[in-house]
Amino acid sequence: MSRFFSEKYRSLVPYTPGEQPKELNLIKLNTNESPFPPSPKAVEFAKREAEKLQLYSDPECRDLVKTASDYFGVSQNEILFTNGSDEILNFAFMAFCDGAHSAAFPDITYGFYPVFAELNGVPFEEIPLKDDFTVDVNAFCGVNKTVFIANPNAPTGIALSLSDIEKIVKSNPDNIVVIDEAYVDFGAESAIKLIHKYDNLLVTGTFSKSRSLAGGRLGFGIANEALIKDLNTVKYSTNPYNVNRMTMAAGVGAIEDNEYFVNNCREIANTREYASEELQKMGFELTSSSANFIFAQSNKIDGKTLYLKLKEKGILIRHFDKERIKNYNRITVGTKEQMDLLLGAIKDINEEIV
Ligand code: PMP
Repeated sequence: MSRFFSEKYRSLVPYTPGEQPKELNLIKLNTNESPFPPSPKAVEFAKREAEKLQLYSDPECRDLVKTASDYFGVSQNEILFTNGSDEILNFAFMAFCDGAHSAAFPDITYGFYPVFAELNGVPFEEIPLKDDFTVDVNAFCGVNKTVFIANPNAPTGIALSLSDIEKIVKSNPDNIVVIDEAYVDFGAESAIKLIHKYDNLLVTGTFSKSRSLAGGRLGFGIANEALIKDLNTVKYSTNPYNVNRMTMAAGVGAIEDNEYFVNNCREIANTREYASEELQKMGFELTSSSANFIFAQSNKIDGKTLYLKLKEKGILIRHFDKERIKNYNRITVGTKEQMDLLLGAIKDINEEIV
């Protein structure tokens, strides 16, 4: 740390992203990317747009907003695009949290929430998941804080029902409830349909997972017009051109190629069920995942050792040091072939340790 670093950030512990190795021969099941390339239409649109990179991107993202608002069934004033959904989440902390509106989120959830809270000087409460790793819905009801819930949750993959989400939103009328739907397309129900019923609901989403655009960085928020206006005030006060031209065009292509998206989501959900069953046969205990990853604990080997042994064999999964989940690993659902290689490697490891 230099002697110039602001007092505000001196104790900040930044988010640690999953490893992004350069070696392409690794099987990468650690950051919940799609195993499939972007839609050919997304690639074609992005390539075309590359020829106009001398011009700034449209700060209003008009083409993308039009396509997306039709797709999601909301008006064009009810959606805002950002540089990945990390950016809209940070905007939400900036816009809707302060000393009087502290934040609340589960103790086991997306690791960026506490970092955004610290970054923005927002006090926060981590509400423990229940013993079965489900979100404690009653504990969030009437909590009177700005609520952040990933649905499905990460890294457990467990989804809340829409009625539980509604209970939380309804019981906190004076606070914003942010539902982070990064993984919703793999098997949970979206809360977007509730935004006209509740003025305190913000739903965030991403093109990083189900639409294979993690490297393009495209996220969004959907809420009533007044909330989107607030978020735009933050956006125009930080980075008006937050979504680049190529990504914006790729986003349009990705939405228009709906069949590609639907097929990929279905394929990933099927592969998740297949790999889950096989892992259970090998003695793993799993949460019930509605996401594009599996959260699993072996009855033969601790989480960290399994992670390290798989890494030696060229397979990357995600291990978290947090006490409550240290025996678990989060395994991104890859292609069926990748999952077979993973299952084979785990079988070999199990044989090595007996
Ligand atoms: N929310 C959750 C729950 C996530 O796991 C992630 C991915 N790390 C994000 C949001 C952010 O994803 P992105 O910025 O790529 O949209």
